[in-house]
Amino acid sequence: MIIDCHTHINYYEDENQPALPGSLENLQREMRRNRVDVAIVLTSYKVNPGRPSTHDAVMATRALSNIFIVAGIRYDGFKKDDLVEIRGFLQEGSVRGLKLYPGYETFYPQDERMRPVFELAGEFDVPVMIHTGDTLNPMGKVKFAHPLHVDEIAVDFPDVKIIICHIGNPWVRDTMEVVYKNKNVYTDISGLVLGDFTDRFEVYMRKQIQEMILYGVEPEKVLYGTDWPISSMESYLRFMEELKIPAQEKKKIMWENAAQLFKLSKENTNLNGNAMPGWLK
Ligand SMILES: [Zn+2]
Repeated sequence: MIIDCHTHINYYEDENQPALPGSLENLQREMRRNRVDVAIVLTSYKVNPGRPSTHDAVMATRALSNIFIVAGIRYDGFKKDDLVEIRGFLQEGSVRGLKLYPGYETFYPQDERMRPVFELAGEFDVPVMIHTGDTLNPMGKVKFAHPLHVDEIAVDFPDVKIIICHIGNPWVRDTMEVVYKNKNVYTDISGLVLGDFTDRFEVYMRKQIQEMILYGVEPEKVLYGTDWPISSMESYLRFMEELKIPAQEKKKIMWENAAQLFKLSKENTNLNGNAMPGWLK
C-alpha cells in the first residue's frame, strides 16, 4: 500500500499551456506504473492555465476514488472570502487539507493574515501543509521558508495538525526539533531532488532521515510524498526501499500515517459519491 501525500498537477515549464486534463492523466499513468494507490494533489498559491485552481482540480477529480485535493492558499491578495468556496469543499470532503507557500510568497507562517486558514483547518480537523526549505524558483526568498518558523504557529494552534513539507531541506535538524517538540507537527519527505536521486545524494539523504527517527521523531510523524512531477516516483520508491528502518515503521510512513491524517477511511466516505478504495477500513 502506497499513499503519495504530495503531488502536483501543474505544468511548470509553460504556465500558459493548460495543465488539465493532461497533467491529471500523466499523474494517473505514473501512479499505475509505480503501483501508487492514492495520491494527494496540492493546488498552487497562484492560478493560471498551467496551475489549475482548487475549483478546477476538485471538478476534474470528482469521479476518481484514489486522488484527493489539498487547497493551496495565496498570501498576496488574500481575502477572507477566498476561504468561502474551500469551506464548502471541506464540508463535502472533496478537499482534505490546506497548503501555504511561504518562501514562494514573502510571509512567515505565523503572519496575522493567515490565521483564518489555521482556524478553518481547526474547525474541520484537516492538516495545514507548509512549504519549507529550498524553492524551485530562484525568485523565492528562503528565509521565509525556514522550518523553525513553523514552531510559532504550531504553538499558537496546538489542535491544528501541521505538516512541514520537504523536511525543511536543507534545514533537516531544525525540522527534527520542531516535529519532536510539537505533538501537532508532522513532516513529509517530498521534493528532495529534481527528477532522480543521484547515488551520493541518495545515501546522504537516507542517512538524515534515519537520523531523524533515531533522534526521537516518531515514525508516526513522517509521511511519504514525492512532489511529483518535480521528483520522480520511481526514484523515490527505490529510495524508500533501501531506507534502513523496521518494516512496521516503514509501513506507517508509506501510507498509514497519511490515511489517518487525511481521513482516508471507509467511514469518512467522500461525499462526492467517490467510492473509497476497499483497503481503507
Ligand atoms: Zn510541492
